[in-house]
Amino acid sequence: MSETEIPCRLCRAPAVFTFHLKLMGRHDVAYFQCTGCRCLQTETPYWLEEAYADTRRPLDVYSATRIEQLRGVTQHVSRLFKWQSGERLLDWGAGDGLLVRMLRDAGIDAYSYDIHTRNNYAVGFDAAPGAGFRMITAFELWEHLPEPAEELDRIFSLQPDIHLLTTGLYSGQGSDWHYLVPETGRHVFLYSREAMHWIAEKYGYQVLAASSASIFYRGKLSFWRKKVLQRLITLRSRRMFECIRLFSSTQSLIKQDRDFILEKMRNRRPDQD
Ligand SMILES: [Zn+2]
Repeated sequence: MSETEIPCRLCRAPAVFTFHLKLMGRHDVAYFQCTGCRCLQTETPYWLEEAYADTRRPLDVYSATRIEQLRGVTQHVSRLFKWQSGERLLDWGAGDGLLVRMLRDAGIDAYSYDIHTRNNYAVGFDAAPGAGFRMITAFELWEHLPEPAEELDRIFSLQPDIHLLTTGLYSGQGSDWHYLVPETGRHVFLYSREAMHWIAEKYGYQVLAASSASIFYRGKLSFWRKKVLQRLITLRSRRMFECIRLFSSTQSLIKQDRDFILEKMRNRRPDQD
């Protein structure tokens, strides 16, 4: 890899070479940090077809717990923004539709949008992006976007009042950062806190950004609502898992499952698929 600089795929400022990482055990890929928005990004991802050949996510062992939490967080957020019946939510990158189903069970008129994965849980409640969604959610989506400038344009051009998302924020971590998940090759763009503010300003939003969740919103929020919101998006992080575990009589298998799968993937020979 001779390239030392590429244009940032979010803000177009120069991004400089930071480190190499082997993705999926076979692609030697360069990562670049943007001198403008400070985001970390891979070189132009040419391996995505291979990375998504199997749309299942074996390493995402948090998914069930995360969806359970996100149902709660999304409901609380909707209450803080005085959600009215008849208002609609679009879950962008909704996967199999489980969260949409759970939100609907809780009384939120939610719809699924995902071009890669079949909606199994919320059949009949698919929607194409369009106007009329008060909230758009995007959980564990942003870091997958190969061309974030274009995709964020699509999301924010719909002008939702609220855009709630989860993505791990980059703040100078090294090539050993667990959120890069080189085994899957799917996390190709990692956002800095500065970038979140840059995006908010670009599209005319306010933003609250925490290490693993962020919320963009329009208009004014009272001091205490803002405080609760900040707490809500922060609580979605590791401490929340700890709290849940305290009330559990059995030990979660999440960590050992993940370690088991990681070990299997790392030992896979390049000729095995
Ligand atoms: Zn940038």
